[in-house]
Amino acid sequence: MTTLIDVKCEQCGADLRVSENATIAKCPYCNYFTQLKEVKETEERYLLTVNHQIEDLEKLLVGDLLKVPTVPSSIRNSIQIINAKLVYEPYFVSTVHGNMKWRGEGRSANYSFSYEGGYRNISFYLKPEAGVFDDFQIFVQYAGNRREDVFQNYLLSTEGKEFFAESTVSSRGGEIEKEAFDFSQAGERSVGFLRNKQLNLLNQEIQKVQDKEEKYRLLNNELIYVPFWIVDFAYKKGAKTKKAIVDASSGDTLILEIPKGRLFIMTLFFSVFIYSMLIGLTFLFDPTLLIDISNDKLPLGVRFTGPIFLIIFVGLLIQTMTYLLRSTFKERRL
Ligand SMILES: [Zn+2]
Repeated sequence: MTTLIDVKCEQCGADLRVSENATIAKCPYCNYFTQLKEVKETEERYLLTVNHQIEDLEKLLVGDLLKVPTVPSSIRNSIQIINAKLVYEPYFVSTVHGNMKWRGEGRSANYSFSYEGGYRNISFYLKPEAGVFDDFQIFVQYAGNRREDVFQNYLLSTEGKEFFAESTVSSRGGEIEKEAFDFSQAGERSVGFLRNKQLNLLNQEIQKVQDKEEKYRLLNNELIYVPFWIVDFAYKKGAKTKKAIVDASSGDTLILEIPKGRLFIMTLFFSVFIYSMLIGLTFLFDPTLLIDISNDKLPLGVRFTGPIFLIIFVGLLIQTMTYLLRSTFKERRL
């Protein structure tokens, strides 16, 4: 159980009750963020727990593969994990508060001489404006060296984080990806991100800046190592090796290679589906759109074309529904 402690809001003096581990406290009355620990003190290393072991990989990959139409359910027995490596990737999580007070001139317009639906005369002029941008934002920065976009754009959940220990990593046979930049650089960048965001807003808002007062505070800065399984696998014995990346903490698949052949079949399948529907409907309702013949002289073959294509369409529709149901109920079946 977490112990609660009493602190005072630095801005309005209100009494706030927070967890003793908290690094910042948000005041519900004035929205001010009071810092409870020096940023330096928050510069800790954490790691996320491995919840999905190497033995679970087969099941996880099969589950995701079966969501793809045309992947046969026999994959469950034929899949081969060739190689699986556990890598801890570094992410900096920085919390920034930014306050920008500004004064300047915004563009306004005078409209005169109205006529139906418009104005004959529009004159622009600058008018004094002032305002404040106040943001509290958490930035996640990937600090590893992997090139795949999935690592850059990864939305990490900090649930289940624990203090970093070399022994935890080595006991799992994992390796650590070294970070390409450090705490202070991560913090500076995050402050920069927020400042740029507010400057962009300011540029949209006003034409000419007269003066502005900026205050940026880095409130929290930590490094979290996220464990990923880098997997080589084959659909069946002897098949070409494919790659997969799985979050060992959440079990989410970030990358999953599907054989090109299957993608091709899937596209073909879908085109036939659409075409048979269109042809079927056209022949059924008005074949003269497709063949140059008057409606009362239709040969018997043409009369049957519509229903036949519609039967193909219904057949494919049932197939598709089966695939969809299969992926919906995949967890239950595994
Ligand atoms: Zn307050």
